[in-house]
Amino acid sequence: MKQILDFSLLKTLTQLPGVSGREEAVQQYLVKKISAAASEIRTDALGNLIITRKGTSGKSVLLCAHMDEVGLMVQHIDDRGFLRFITVGGIDPRTLLAQRVRVQTKTGELLGIIGTKPAHITTEADRAKAIAIKELFIDLGLPAEEVKKRVSLGDVAVLDRAYEEFGANLFSSKAIDNRVGVFILAEILRNLPKPLHTIHAVFSTQEEVGARGATTASYGLQADVCLCLDTTGAADIPGVAVQDFIVRVGGGVGITALDARTITPQPLFNDLVNLCCEKKIPHQIRIAPRGGTDAGAVHISKTGIPSCSLSIPTRNIHSNVEVASKCDVQAMFDLVSCVVNKPWACLEK
Ligand SMILES: [Zn+2]
Repeated sequence: MKQILDFSLLKTLTQLPGVSGREEAVQQYLVKKISAAASEIRTDALGNLIITRKGTSGKSVLLCAHMDEVGLMVQHIDDRGFLRFITVGGIDPRTLLAQRVRVQTKTGELLGIIGTKPAHITTEADRAKAIAIKELFIDLGLPAEEVKKRVSLGDVAVLDRAYEEFGANLFSSKAIDNRVGVFILAEILRNLPKPLHTIHAVFSTQEEVGARGATTASYGLQADVCLCLDTTGAADIPGVAVQDFIVRVGGGVGITALDARTITPQPLFNDLVNLCCEKKIPHQIRIAPRGGTDAGAVHISKTGIPSCSLSIPTRNIHSNVEVASKCDVQAMFDLVSCVVNKPWACLEK
């Protein structure tokens, strides 16, 4: 019978601040929410949250979902109190114009607006130009002295946008990349009290800046196979040729054949596809010549761990209006549930 996923948990997770290297709020929330479902729970020096749930088969599966999101870091405060910033992780500057952010300061959050010159005072040529991050600023609406008291260089800002459900089973929010992977992994731990194989669940840090958390977490773990639960850009939008979609929103869980950092070993890839066919789990093949995930770090950890990225197709990825489908979330949950609970060819090799 299908498990009913609690999407209110996903909604909460998307709204927590967790720019790469500043994932504490997400980590602490998860500890409260799922520590009851752990045989062992620990954090490491990079802030990874590592939860082990003992199985009975003698085999172990590493499941990895990164907690961090792309964001901004304050680099300069000008004489009038406007903030200049750099990006943490890949953000297209065009998606930041006229958007709201939440600046995380030592005394709490401040709402900020990324300002833009109105059409009235720009020319057509101005508007046709590419925009650079260094042209943008955050307006906190406060006098400069007040800003300088409350904001420190190095403070981070998250994109600001509420979680909303819309259309045919879709949802949109900031940080779907990768709170949706975190959500599925949390639901796996909460819903499967006695997995067949031991689960090492890693909620990793700093994926968006180069899979840094997964590098140290996987070094400290012994696992027979690894699945990374993450998002991938879905280019299934007008103006893009079908062969360039990568994946389609609503088309099922993405099973990676290749991305810029990994090539999934053939036996693992085949087993995952066969499992989906056998259990009638909607799935699609992800071939993404650009981009990588935590699997890029895990599969070359120590003497190597066979790894595959499973992907939730996500439109407008790395923006504050990322879009994904509940059906794809269910498909990834179903596939991972099967993997940890059945005798699995890949683990016998
Ligand atoms: Zn991601």
